[in-house]
Amino acid sequence: VAASASASPAMAAAVAAAEVPAAMKAWAYGAYGDAGVLKLDEAAAVPAVGEGQVLVKVAAAALNPVDAKRRAGKFQATDSPLPTVPGYDVAGVVVKVGGGVKGLKEGDEVYGMISEKPLDGPKQSGSLAEYTAVEERLLAPKPKGLDFAQAAGLPLAILTANEGLERAGLAAGKSVLVLGGAGGVGSLAIQVRHRRSPLLAAAVLKVYGASKVAATASTKKIELLKSLGADVAIDYTKENFDELPDKYDVVFDAVGQGDKAVKVVKEGGSVVVLTGAVTPPGFRFVVTSNGSTLEKLNPYLESGKVKPLIDPTGPFPFSQVVEAFSYLETGRATGKVVISPV
Ligand code: NDP
Repeated sequence: VAASASASPAMAAAVAAAEVPAAMKAWAYGAYGDAGVLKLDEAAAVPAVGEGQVLVKVAAAALNPVDAKRRAGKFQATDSPLPTVPGYDVAGVVVKVGGGVKGLKEGDEVYGMISEKPLDGPKQSGSLAEYTAVEERLLAPKPKGLDFAQAAGLPLAILTANEGLERAGLAAGKSVLVLGGAGGVGSLAIQVRHRRSPLLAAAVLKVYGASKVAATASTKKIELLKSLGADVAIDYTKENFDELPDKYDVVFDAVGQGDKAVKVVKEGGSVVVLTGAVTPPGFRFVVTSNGSTLEKLNPYLESGKVKPLIDPTGPFPFSQVVEAFSYLETGRATGKVVISPV
């Protein structure tokens, strides 16, 4: 039984009850390089389920620039050994439970980012496969009302937006400029202006009460930025954001413009940089996966206050992972490049 993007609870139970095979289809590479090194392995080993882990039947996965950078060999020094099945983002159904797992059972619909530290010993067997083994603590229940494709696009990007804005000290009443507002991370980082809920933890509260949100993108994406909640949408093909008079409490750089970003931050404000060179007082961090953070964000996703954005060129079926990577690597994706169904 295949878990598809529209799977019902009954179908999820059927997926869980079906016997797990010894072999599966998986995209893998045995040498670093461009998207051409990816090959579909029709008989890859289904990963063993370790202590504290569950086996997830992958319904949908998503691509992130880090998958491409890792595949290009940029993180060789700290990568897991080749061959690699790439993919950090997953949404699917639990089909097997390892020792010590307390909160998850077979049939549960989950989503998450499968490696705790994406650059430091990431899993050799990722989410671009029919099955992937993941620590229970890295997973959260799939948000109610979202399908597997929508959920798969969220984990790495929303955890990055959340952690970055938290580290930057964004709090209620502060202003933020998101560089790269139409991308996977930026499209979520923009959605910070929603009113806070008294039910949520303090760390999350801080992220959701910004007073003014500005963002950059190219001409065709300006209306999108506004629809995501940006008060100010800057078309970078027409204006240089660092030549405008506005200054911000927080600048969130998802493009790699750290040198310009520091010119538009208020004194005492912060500049968080996801990629590229860091100019003081800017700082860079690498996202950490965490299921409980996703769980805290679930109410925002379930109420529709924060909306996942799937690139309309996709979702790409599992057979078109190479095409999906080539598209992602144009750097022009709008929201997330999703692989569904798997
Ligand atoms: P995407 O591939 O989704 O970003 C694509 C978007 O970037 C497009 O919509 C494009 O819009 C926009 N863009 C490109 N150039 C510019 C520009 N000069 N100004 C404004 N927008 C621009 O990437 P992600 O959002 O997934 O990731 C962004 C970066 O952050 C990547 O380098 C990624 O590796 C890094 N990253 C780092 C993390 C960390 O932990 N440090 C975690 C996650 C991501 P347009 O077509 O309009 O140009």
